[in-house]
Amino acid sequence: MQKIPMTVPLVEMDGDEMTRVIWKMIKDILLTPYVDLKTEYYDLGLEHRDETNDQVTYDAAEATKKYGVAVKCATITPNAARVEEYHLKEMWKSPNGTIRAILDGTVFRSPILVKGITPFLPNWKKPITIARHAYGDVYKNVEMRVDAGSKAELVVTRADGSVERQTIHEFAGGGIIQGLHNLDSSIASFARSCFNYALDTKQDLWFATKDTISKIYDHRFKDIFQEIFDAEYREKFESAGITYFYTLIDDAVARVVRSEGGYIWACKNYDGDVMSDMVATAFGSLAMMTSVLVSPEGVYEYEAAHGTVQRHYYRHLKGEKTSTNSMATLFAWSGALRKRGELDGNSALVDFAGKLEQASIQTIEDGVMTGDLYSLSTLENKTSVDTETFLREIGVRLEKLLA
Ligand code: NAP
Ligand code: MG
Repeated sequence: MQKIPMTVPLVEMDGDEMTRVIWKMIKDILLTPYVDLKTEYYDLGLEHRDETNDQVTYDAAEATKKYGVAVKCATITPNAARVEEYHLKEMWKSPNGTIRAILDGTVFRSPILVKGITPFLPNWKKPITIARHAYGDVYKNVEMRVDAGSKAELVVTRADGSVERQTIHEFAGGGIIQGLHNLDSSIASFARSCFNYALDTKQDLWFATKDTISKIYDHRFKDIFQEIFDAEYREKFESAGITYFYTLIDDAVARVVRSEGGYIWACKNYDGDVMSDMVATAFGSLAMMTSVLVSPEGVYEYEAAHGTVQRHYYRHLKGEKTSTNSMATLFAWSGALRKRGELDGNSALVDFAGKLEQASIQTIEDGVMTGDLYSLSTLENKTSVDTETFLREIGVRLEKLLA
């Protein structure tokens, strides 16, 4: 069989531990036999990040801007234990944080649905994609404890030196205060990433805040979304047959629970933090959550939502067989290959990405799965297989689909 050619390279960011092991297996078993894989390779494994003083992360992000599509393996975000384990020069920052800051992007997370793994809410028939704003609010707050008898004020000194103040509270007893902020520019980037991704995936977009209570702060989010939608996206949405709608966060939660899925739910930073865990858990397995970072200019970086699966890696190092689920990492590759194919007008590559996903879903629905899914699946004839066997089983089905 002739391999599918590629014209423009994918930015490939390698990573750490068990996912690094899986990364190589996916390429060897499912990609390079069929695709003349063209990538610009960046090793974001912790050792190499340390060697390059993390420059490799910055270079990978810049390359992503240049080429438009990247695929990333899970990486270790160092903590004190990792600094010791890897003898690091510094506690390097989270690569995902660095890349997100450079691309100014929003992360979209969606579950992969398969027969036999029923969401805890059985009416959820289609994926629910959560888009979380990744800047500001309580994550960049300033907070204080306040003694009895204190008066807390909000004071703003403008560029011209004039001052505006408002009383927050006069404290008869002790208490607490918190200062939050966000930026028009960041909210606008968030909005554009959401509108672009909705168009890209042909799904409705929901956005919700608490603007009835927060009449200036949350209302600003609502207004920026609406202004950008009206000016830049309304017609595009109409011709794509999708809708944007804004509602109160309480109403959104109620609608989400009753829905059958199949839309994007854009959330402010804190709401997204909480709701993405709720949605991921309700869909069944972290190992089945995909993640894509989308910049307001339409640059895409695909990855799995889970981490490097450290515990499995230590077993792997001892020579034990692991049963690590490669689905989310595999879908990162198929997502990136599909997007590359779409951008380059390479229909063979788009077709391959679809068949790769089809083969992997079929494998699980045939009852062949890794341990994490085995314990969840309601299929009668199911077997639990090791990491490599799972990928080889996908390979058997992929071969048939491509024939
Ligand atoms: P994790 O890698 O997400 O794994 C946590 C646990 O979830 C695993 O021990 C495993 O449970 C289960 N699990 C996750 N993915 C699985 C998969 N594909 N197949 C089967 N089981 C899976 O989180 P962690 O072990 O707490 O973190 C390890 C490292 O990942 C950390 O250094 C962290 O910095 C990094 N991390 C990176 C990213 C990223 O790059 N996007 C995201 C999160 C965390 P059992 O052990 O019970 O089987
Ligand atoms: Mg969280």
